[in-house]
Amino acid sequence: MIIDSHAHFWRRKMLPGSILKAYIEPLLVLDGIIDFSKDREDAWPITEVFAHELVDAMDGAGVDKAVILPLDFGLVEEPGIGIEGYNQWVFESCEEYKDRLIPFVGVDPNRGDKARELIQRFIKDYDAKGIKVYPATGFRPNEERLVDFWKLLDDYGMVVVSHSGASWGPLDEECNHPIFYREVLERFPSLRVVIAHLGGKWKLETYELARTHDNIYADCSAVQGWLPSEPEVAIDRLEEAALHMHDRLVFGTDWPLFDLSYSYLNWVKFVKEENWASEDVKEKMLGGNMKKILGL
Ligand SMILES: [Zn+2]
Repeated sequence: MIIDSHAHFWRRKMLPGSILKAYIEPLLVLDGIIDFSKDREDAWPITEVFAHELVDAMDGAGVDKAVILPLDFGLVEEPGIGIEGYNQWVFESCEEYKDRLIPFVGVDPNRGDKARELIQRFIKDYDAKGIKVYPATGFRPNEERLVDFWKLLDDYGMVVVSHSGASWGPLDEECNHPIFYREVLERFPSLRVVIAHLGGKWKLETYELARTHDNIYADCSAVQGWLPSEPEVAIDRLEEAALHMHDRLVFGTDWPLFDLSYSYLNWVKFVKEENWASEDVKEKMLGGNMKKILGL
């Protein structure tokens, strides 16, 4: 079984303009796909992406399931459609592909009581299995004020996926250090935390935490950013991750963000076929490990 542990979809109005501009513009300019100008924003190819497009990509690449992560940037800049509407839309979209798509709740812990209400509502209505958080919206995971938030997630057995590494635009990148999870992992040893993008430029912090804590995991999404130009760097990153994370490394794509420069199909093929680990390790990374985490 192949599981993509990190994918998104959104309507244009669900993301703040400043975030969309900061994330998508460099990708497009880099690839020479489009000359950025504000009035052409609606013509960008990944400004809006839908469940059926991801399922098509999954079908083409032989991916069985994908975890969908809504993104809450609303406290940084309020988008046209608020966080409740965004989560609701994602969960409803996934209902159509119940055996393929696994939606997580996306909410900023800085919302306090509202965040807790939202999480409980989606657990009750949809049996939500996990949550996506994005520290660069303005919190450090080890802050004392957030202990109740992590406790709630732990009480419900929710899987946490946390952004890590670089952030752009109005976001506070310094909050993204994986090492800020040390206290959370310690205090809640049964809470499973997946560090996205291996930790990015701070991947060594992820690996340091993995030495002492069993409940930390990492996804390899965004590593395909090195492709197609520097395959040796991508292989090196995967080798290193396998060495440190063992069976706590999971596959991810961050679809649709890298699709323009390196297709979904090619990334799946690269991980499957390149010689960065034993066949057994690759198989677990591609699906077995996440299957276990999600209790499938
Ligand atoms: Zn992502």
